[in-house]
Amino acid sequence: MLIEEKTNFNSLAYKLITSSFPEKIRLDALVDLITMLGNITRGTIIINNLIISKLIKSTCYLRDSFERSRQEKELLNIGEAIFLEIRDHQCLSFTTKSNLKIALTVLKGIKVNFTVKKQDLLYPRIVMIETQAICNAKCSFCDYKELERKGIKMSSENLNSILNQLSKIPENHSFTVQPYRVSEPFLDKRLISICHRIFAMHPKAKVSIISNGSYIPNTLTKELSDLCRKEYFFERKFQKSLPRLVLSFSLNESDPVKYKELMKLDFHRTCSNLDRLHEMFTSNQLPFPIKLTRVSTDPSEDKNFMEFCRRRYPYFKAFLLKLNDWTGSNKFSQNVKNFSATPLSAYQKLPCQRWFDLSILATGKVALCCMDSGVCNFNLGDAFKENMLDIYRRKMNSYIPNTLKRGSSIDPCKGCTYSGPMSQGEHLLKTNRKNMWNK
Ligand code: SF4
Repeated sequence: MLIEEKTNFNSLAYKLITSSFPEKIRLDALVDLITMLGNITRGTIIINNLIISKLIKSTCYLRDSFERSRQEKELLNIGEAIFLEIRDHQCLSFTTKSNLKIALTVLKGIKVNFTVKKQDLLYPRIVMIETQAICNAKCSFCDYKELERKGIKMSSENLNSILNQLSKIPENHSFTVQPYRVSEPFLDKRLISICHRIFAMHPKAKVSIISNGSYIPNTLTKELSDLCRKEYFFERKFQKSLPRLVLSFSLNESDPVKYKELMKLDFHRTCSNLDRLHEMFTSNQLPFPIKLTRVSTDPSEDKNFMEFCRRRYPYFKAFLLKLNDWTGSNKFSQNVKNFSATPLSAYQKLPCQRWFDLSILATGKVALCCMDSGVCNFNLGDAFKENMLDIYRRKMNSYIPNTLKRGSSIDPCKGCTYSGPMSQGEHLLKTNRKNMWNK
């Protein structure tokens, strides 16, 4: 914590703890305190044990000893949860911060700007194609273990027909294709040829690949390098051309034992693959962005992960991602998520950018969005039997409400707490970040 943050913290904590202050002042102090804690610019928040226990006690007292509105109760629950997290870890996880941002945006009545273009109702922004439902990892936060379709591979005939339908998307519509779903993309030998085909057939299509990085044979590295041929870049007048491929590795942990526990993979093997790619990247053989990501489950580990990436892979960008819960089908995520105490009512006031996903499973069934692993069946249609753009448009009619708020949509959107990457996780290590939640 910076000195000025500490002074501010102490004066707000004093107001919240002191019972002679009017309740309104104590509640306002709590809003300012949690706003400030959500924006702490350094990794650790060291607060005297006595003060943190007084903060927890006062927050619980204010919540339990008076008749409270739902909004006040939600605020006090958030306060208690984040004080407990700070007591136990001396920092907040990225997941908690993301939830906190959403809760405060809504509690403070900040308007969220969200408009839908007509074209987005006709054509998806993200197309996910699960070319096969095969993965070599078993991550705790993923639904792969529960998949009935495990091992199923999309036939080349069906895959071709899907790719052909993509070429019908108008040339002025940009979209991203993810040629995988609940699967490890590098295990499909067709991956590189699929990417070539997507780049060649649509001038505004990008490809995003997220891999666990445990299987990257040398031949694949060479093919990846070939993928960066000049014609596969977006040309921009007066600016550097933009690559059409983004490669991310879902590394998640910096500790080999925790990595094994979480993903059931060998940490050293993955890191030696990443070392090789990092070397290629620094010698300009891979001219597209490479990211390392961590699903934020634990505050202290968020910080360790960012430090590890910065040290070992300085030319890759490291990101923290909020833990989401696969439309309620993943127990592990639900248990961790509950720690943040974010009220569902806050999410219900928000739109969702994943409404614009078209997500095709290896069986041909269309899933709702990136949060729908296909474990639950929403009966949206079968892309092997029907035009996939027709399925997309039908889905848009059912799920996007006129209000553009999730709360007025149907299940599972109504009860969903998904939020996408909002900011680079590096803020945990940076200083001088401006306050996002000022009134
Ligand atoms: S609200 Fe949730 S379930 Fe609905 S589209 Fe968004 S991420 Fe998917």
